[in-house]
Amino acid sequence: MKPHFQNPAHRVRGSRWTRDFSSAVRFFLFFPSPAVPFRVRVQWRCSWNKRISLITTKILLMKDIDRIFLDAVGFHGHSCPGLAIGVRAAVIARDVLSAGRAEDEDLVCIAETDACGVDGIQFVAGCTAGKGNLIIHDYGKQAFSFLNRATGKAVRVAVRPESSMDAKEPEGWTVRVKVFGGTATPEETAVFEASKERMIDFYLHAPLDEAFSVTMIPAPEIPKAKVQVSVICARCGEPVMPAKAVEWDGIYLCVPCSEAESSRK
Ligand SMILES: [Zn+2]
Ligand SMILES: [Zn+2]
Repeated sequence: MKPHFQNPAHRVRGSRWTRDFSSAVRFFLFFPSPAVPFRVRVQWRCSWNKRISLITTKILLMKDIDRIFLDAVGFHGHSCPGLAIGVRAAVIARDVLSAGRAEDEDLVCIAETDACGVDGIQFVAGCTAGKGNLIIHDYGKQAFSFLNRATGKAVRVAVRPESSMDAKEPEGWTVRVKVFGGTATPEETAVFEASKERMIDFYLHAPLDEAFSVTMIPAPEIPKAKVQVSVICARCGEPVMPAKAVEWDGIYLCVPCSEAESSRK
């Protein structure tokens, strides 16, 4: 099945085609061929031209990062400041490290959170849970380190202390507890939503050094994911990766079975 969101592989650097195409469409609509009779042109321009030119103008006004963010929302499920942090951090890292979207393990991310931002990273940088190039150390920090294996260069992108939501939007941050707890009034919900929108806009568009600290770091040692032949768990009979299996009196057990055995003894 075709995914409903677009692959952002070529979106960070190149949307020139989209821009050129939109300009061509608009040019054609505003300056139709003289071969078309005047009355037909007027009618045509009053109906479709207006609508199409409105749509293309909107596309032209949207920046690359906005389009990437919208696609990421399709992947993540909702729009939130955390996702905006992940999207922008991945865009910055790809730019700084001159890296494309990871097809394999060529670009690796170490995330210091397991929150919404991680989905922005997965979507834009292609560092995903399934490929082994996303490592999560949940320190509860909005910080992401990236390693480009091809060049050996690494960068850490972190939200500046003065740019966190609680620092920039204290009012929205305070009512957030009530909103998530389901006790917020409509006015409080509106305050929260408005501050959320401002934060999304800030993380996506603020000057780089205002929102994030970007530091080149020594390349972290990250072993590549191993491909191993499975062993069979002696208790449940299911295949399990040897590195994850527990050796028990000369036999292999999967983790749940070994825990069940331990609790029986
Ligand atoms: Zn989210
Ligand atoms: Zn088992």
